[in-house]
Amino acid sequence: MATEENLNYCLGLKPLGLHFSGHGFENKQMAFSKDRGAWERDKHKGDFLMFEQENGASKNMYSSQLKEILGKYDCSTIKFVIIASCYSLCFGQIFSQAGVEHVICIDKGKEIDDKAALTFSRAFYKAIYTSECTICEAFEMAKEAVKRESAVASKKFKKLPEECNFCNSQNELIAKSVYKKKQGLIEIIGELPLIYKIPSRVEPFLFRNRDMFEVLNLM
Ligand SMILES: [Zn+2]
Repeated sequence: MATEENLNYCLGLKPLGLHFSGHGFENKQMAFSKDRGAWERDKHKGDFLMFEQENGASKNMYSSQLKEILGKYDCSTIKFVIIASCYSLCFGQIFSQAGVEHVICIDKGKEIDDKAALTFSRAFYKAIYTSECTICEAFEMAKEAVKRESAVASKKFKKLPEECNFCNSQNELIAKSVYKKKQGLIEIIGELPLIYKIPSRVEPFLFRNRDMFEVLNLM
């Protein structure tokens, strides 16, 4: 669950990689629905990612807030961050400035559909975890996989910094040995919902728990 608390928890684990999967919005009045107060308050804060709160309600995450959170951690040990969300460039820049080696995000002003994001992720992780390729090579392979479905979507994926200092030829062997991975276990953070076998896909994420409650009541 993409809560601020879980982001802090994940960063505290000194991860090799971090993947954010969720929606990103351009800072326009329509993104605030009918909440004029929130729009007036936050319209100068730039684009935002949609995080969740424990009760299922949404929480806008602005780049200034992300910067503040990242300031508490040493991000230079993170090999890659993927933000597969629309309008995520400004967040990618924050991660990159914080020292993350590779940040993959969606270019300024661009939306990305779920299909392209999924294709990218599948190809990227398959390359990373089943071959000896570097992260930059995996990025190119994943872009190629998206390109086979949509050349337009493929161009939206951006890597920061553009010139990689880590996967160049001198460091190639080091890069490959660093990324040798061991199979681990999946840890689920937070409490499992009481009933978790029912698909939970509710869009937007707002009030997911309430929707779920109502669906279960009808069953
Ligand atoms: Zn690289």
